[in-house]
Amino acid sequence: MRYPQTFVEDLKRQADIVRVVQDYVQLKKKGANWMACCPFHKEKTPSFSVSPAKEIFYCFGCHKGGSVFNFVMEMERVSFPEAIKLVAEKSGVPLPKLIDDSRFEARRQEADDVIELNKWALEWWEQQLESSAEGRIARDYLKGREITDETRKTFRLGYAPDSWDALSIYLRQKGVSQDEIDRSGLVVKKEEGGSYDRFRGRLIFPVMDIQGKPIAFGGRTLSKDNPAKYLNSPETPAYIKGQNLFGLNLTRDQIRKQEFAILVEGFLDLIVLHQFGIRNVVASLGTALTSEQVKLLARFARKVVVNYDGDPPGVQAARKAIEILLAQDFEIKVLVLNKADPDEFIREHGLSEYERVQTTSSLNEFIRKHGATAYMERRGEAQPHIKFVIDQAMRDRTLSNPADKEAAIEDVLPFIRVVRNHIQKREYFDIAMDTLQINDATLKRELWHSIRMGPGKSARVTPQSSRRAYVKPTVAEERLLQLLLAHEELRRVLLPKLEPGDYDDLPTAPIFRALLEGEREGKAIDFDFLSRKTGDDPISELLPGLLMSELETEEGDQSEAREVTAERCLNALRLMRLDRSISDLRSEIAAAQRNGETEHCDKLATEQIELTRRREALLPRAEAMQIGN
Ligand SMILES: [Zn+2]
Repeated sequence: MRYPQTFVEDLKRQADIVRVVQDYVQLKKKGANWMACCPFHKEKTPSFSVSPAKEIFYCFGCHKGGSVFNFVMEMERVSFPEAIKLVAEKSGVPLPKLIDDSRFEARRQEADDVIELNKWALEWWEQQLESSAEGRIARDYLKGREITDETRKTFRLGYAPDSWDALSIYLRQKGVSQDEIDRSGLVVKKEEGGSYDRFRGRLIFPVMDIQGKPIAFGGRTLSKDNPAKYLNSPETPAYIKGQNLFGLNLTRDQIRKQEFAILVEGFLDLIVLHQFGIRNVVASLGTALTSEQVKLLARFARKVVVNYDGDPPGVQAARKAIEILLAQDFEIKVLVLNKADPDEFIREHGLSEYERVQTTSSLNEFIRKHGATAYMERRGEAQPHIKFVIDQAMRDRTLSNPADKEAAIEDVLPFIRVVRNHIQKREYFDIAMDTLQINDATLKRELWHSIRMGPGKSARVTPQSSRRAYVKPTVAEERLLQLLLAHEELRRVLLPKLEPGDYDDLPTAPIFRALLEGEREGKAIDFDFLSRKTGDDPISELLPGLLMSELETEEGDQSEAREVTAERCLNALRLMRLDRSISDLRSEIAAAQRNGETEHCDKLATEQIELTRRREALLPRAEAMQIGN
């Protein structure tokens, strides 16, 4: 069920965004806007503003912004329909009947049914763990891991008895049909008909959604000779793999408060850390980290400490996680617990301690042995991801051996290529070149050209990162969009001059396309329209800032001056694109020369001359425009 779109639009017009925000923060009028200290980040001077005319809020400090609904969703941590309801109540607008979106509704109903069954199963498993005779084996296991009763209850751990049908019988007694049980994923269907309980003789870890509802389970075997250590729920209407993070329902507030998350691999890693009071943690749930999980995490923090196990599979998983996180613009540190400079460590702690730490590759073992304080200290030693990546690449390789050196470079470059911030990218590149002892200037230049264009050019980067993440646009791009968004008459003059090549490559391309479409169809260009058109693209986060900043830098009412600025920005964008093509050509020419392809080389050189000529013609027109990264 959802509210009719017309109602949502009417409500947005009727709801006074200033009045709604006023319920949460003390606003003061300043010019056309209202200002306050931002409720989403700590500050002393107000940078949070509300524009009644544009019907948006925006913080110049933390860059949060959006409609009145976004504000309520953020403040109250509620879903979109719930925010609509709250805004309607605050504005005294009666709510209409929900409309029936039958397919959506059917799917939602199926998911709710599975969750309902999961709730019953979980309550029963919890009971089994707490008091059944058979549950003793699980209680002993937890005792051995020093997991307290309080922690067990917080995470709602359970025990599934070693039986083929005990849970099914219990559920049928509650009046659940066999059909529903089959759909829930709690049983495994047999080919010859009938089914049996999926989780048997296992410690149960429920996976909760962000609201704390059980959507799936992980089960750890308690028998030594079972090769399948962990067993997980299959996908069901309530659960799609790779879209949830274990523990986030309990840890999200701490993650937001501390402004970073610790990413661990397993259920127990997170649970043990939590018990020791470290509560800004999420677990990626065994399988490789996905970009959906990273996007979910990005709602709460943009910094992460990757803390996977120190054994080879753990290191491999950490490398994968770094690539996915980098593609979403996270700031990443890596903590490997069994890594220590042996020499220094032995002198400080003695040999036996060294041997002990070396064998402690798993996080929850470490924290149980050494305690939370030791963990906090080690966490301070977390290294920037680039250092971790280079260290790993140099492991078991000798830099004086050319083949080894080349392999190490191959290992490292993809991690620099995915970095979107140009300055940071150059910094990482220089660190890598220094550490890998690459001193030849020509080689360095070639390597730089091979990665500077970003992920689009690379086949070695994971597919997840091919999707454009939120990137800071260049100054020219930003200014041009600000002007276009603010001035209708400028749109009429300038948009027809745009060629697809002018914006296709830019991270803000979806906004340009939305503008062109709106102009073509005579739509009102406002936050509502633009955010609908740019939809899921992370770049839509920029909209409130672009719409608001024009107010801050109003150039008076001189449409001619504005047009000149806009043209200059456009030319600066074209210039940047030419520069990129020219430097690409340059490295292609170098490669052709090395391979002795004279004919190809000549062709490329002619092309380069043509581009350079075009560049020179453009240069005076793009001048005086500061070019961003
Ligand atoms: Zn803020």
